[in-house]
Amino acid sequence: AERTMDPVRNEEDLGEGALRPQTLADFTGQKTSRENLAIFIEAARARAEALDHVLLHGPPGLGKTTLAQIVARELGVGFRATSGPVIQRAGDLAAILTNLQPRDVLFIDEIHRLQPAIEEILYPAMEDFQLDLIIGEGPAARSVRIDLAPFTLVAATTRAGLLATPLRDRFGIPLRLVFYTPEELKLIVSRGARKLGFALTDEGAFEIARRSRGTPRIAGRLLRRVRDFASVGNGGGEAVGAGLADAALTRLEVDSLGLDSMDRRYLRRIAEFHNGGPVGVETLAAALAEARDTIEDVIEPYLIQEGLVLRTSRGRVLGERGWRHLGLVPPASSQA
Ligand code: ADP
Repeated sequence: AERTMDPVRNEEDLGEGALRPQTLADFTGQKTSRENLAIFIEAARARAEALDHVLLHGPPGLGKTTLAQIVARELGVGFRATSGPVIQRAGDLAAILTNLQPRDVLFIDEIHRLQPAIEEILYPAMEDFQLDLIIGEGPAARSVRIDLAPFTLVAATTRAGLLATPLRDRFGIPLRLVFYTPEELKLIVSRGARKLGFALTDEGAFEIARRSRGTPRIAGRLLRRVRDFASVGNGGGEAVGAGLADAALTRLEVDSLGLDSMDRRYLRRIAEFHNGGPVGVETLAAALAEARDTIEDVIEPYLIQEGLVLRTSRGRVLGERGWRHLGLVPPASSQA
């Protein structure tokens, strides 16, 4: 089922391109990553060299694809995008690599889902800009080496820990993206509203921002949903404020912390079936009928950052804040 609050891109987001910032200066938040990138981009430009390979890691919807596009634009080079699961055969990757122009950016999303055999081809390509291919089969097989144009690989993954060490080590510029603050998201929402020609007050923008799970993709989606409600329910054409935004978000079952029904099911499961935990992630995944990866990459990071859930060596434990959010009182033994 599609969730409004699912940070993973879906059909509904096809229109989100219009809200994408185009330059590093326009890109709100991620201060450390942005400042580092600006320096490395300037240095690469000055030397007229390909930028070192960049690894972007962090939860979905935080701007990895957007940053990859911005890097190419700021370098003034071509941009080519693909993703780990799309590259099925060595030939697919070879075709992409041999078509790159000098200093181009190749973006590989979900690089942790690249097949190991294809990863092996990537190593010499990243390190020496060389492609080693086996041509033919059996005794007639021979290996050929092709020189590639120097290029920059910008790769994205939800968790750096999912990458094989030799692959991870080949990225000169690893950057971790973090959840956005409500203030940063408010800027993004306000700018998005202006681009959509939608009159939204500062308070309205902040209401959307603080309920967006720290994630620009969700903020953009909620902005569009609030606009839908406003265009139907607000005949007067006045700017939409916090009250109407709150009503729309409540109708969408986005609660005061920006959690949706899936988040609440997750929290309630730990509270009601496991007395607050600890409980293993596999057990939770089975009970909620979600893939373990989805739980770990999509649902948990925000809940953990907000102190609703704690990750311990023995499993997940409901935090004090998690109990309170559910309107429950923690059992005496877990009041740490
Ligand atoms: P990811 O690749 O990490 O899943 P995207 O780069 O596709 O995320 O970003 C998702 C959406 O959020 C896009 O619509 C993009 O325009 C918007 N977005 C991401 N980061 C920012 C930002 N810093 N400022 C404004 N919009 C952003």
